[in-house]
Amino acid sequence: MTNVSADVVICGAGIAGVSIAYQLAVHHQMRNIMLVDPLPPLTMTSDKSTESYRNWWPGPGDAMVRLMNRSIDMLEQLHQQAPGRLHMNRRGYVYATANTDSVDSLIAGAQEISRLGAGPLRIHHGRGSDPIYTPFGEHGIFDAPQGADLLLDGDLIQRYFPYLTKRTVAVLHTRRCGWFAAQQFGMYMLEKARECGVQLRSGQVADVIVNGGKIEAIRNRW
Ligand SMILES: Cc1cc2nc3c(=O)[nH]c(=O)nc-3n(C[C@H](O)[C@H](O)[C@H](O)COP(=O)(O)OP(=O)(O)OC[C@H]3O[C@@H](n4cnc5c(N)ncnc54)[C@H](O)[C@@H]3O)c2cc1C
Repeated sequence: MTNVSADVVICGAGIAGVSIAYQLAVHHQMRNIMLVDPLPPLTMTSDKSTESYRNWWPGPGDAMVRLMNRSIDMLEQLHQQAPGRLHMNRRGYVYATANTDSVDSLIAGAQEISRLGAGPLRIHHGRGSDPIYTPFGEHGIFDAPQGADLLLDGDLIQRYFPYLTKRTVAVLHTRRCGWFAAQQFGMYMLEKARECGVQLRSGQVADVIVNGGKIEAIRNRW
């Protein structure tokens, strides 16, 4: 058995473990960090993701909205550092219904999520007094509208979403949402963490040895 020493051992090199290694090493200048996984990095669940993100989450409470707003801030910072490499877009999510009975609950849900901190809700009835609707092709990531746009007029819906059935009666277009290359983000963070000294080791954490209420050692199967 080989004994190696580390101040921090991170169990698992999925996106969660890699992000922790990156934050500790790059942003908090911590050294002597070991990332342990029996598999190559980012190959288990993190390899299966649809790679979409959104800040538009229902309650109860605002925990998810706050978590996601902060997480998206961090994604945007990474994207600013390496824009050519970390593909990210802000196309939004679309929730649509052709059922008139569902419209009231769609509006109530959207108002609640907006109140929780996901951004303003703009309602479009197809009248001259409507707020401005900016389609996704007319903005980038950093000048994108916040919150959501709720389209309640059939002509408007067909103009901007012609691929939806003409029976569609409401479209909720949530804006701080989109797609990003999660694998690329993960590899970028891993490279930066390794440049700051994080060691990646193949192994399986088998035991955590605690002495006097403190972690004394981690036993690995190498
Ligand atoms: C089909 C699908 C679609 C998804 N779509 C999205 C999406 O669009 N947007 C989104 O945000 N999320 C999505 N997710 C969720 C997201 O992919 C996961 O939340 C995320 O990948 C989990 O990352 P993780 O690092 O926690 O876990 P994992 O990627 O599973 O990493 C865990 C790692 O720990 C290692 N490990 C386990 N036990 C040990 C041990 N004893 N010692 C050492 N290492 C160990 C494993 O080998 C593995 O590499 C989706 C998930 C799935 C399955």
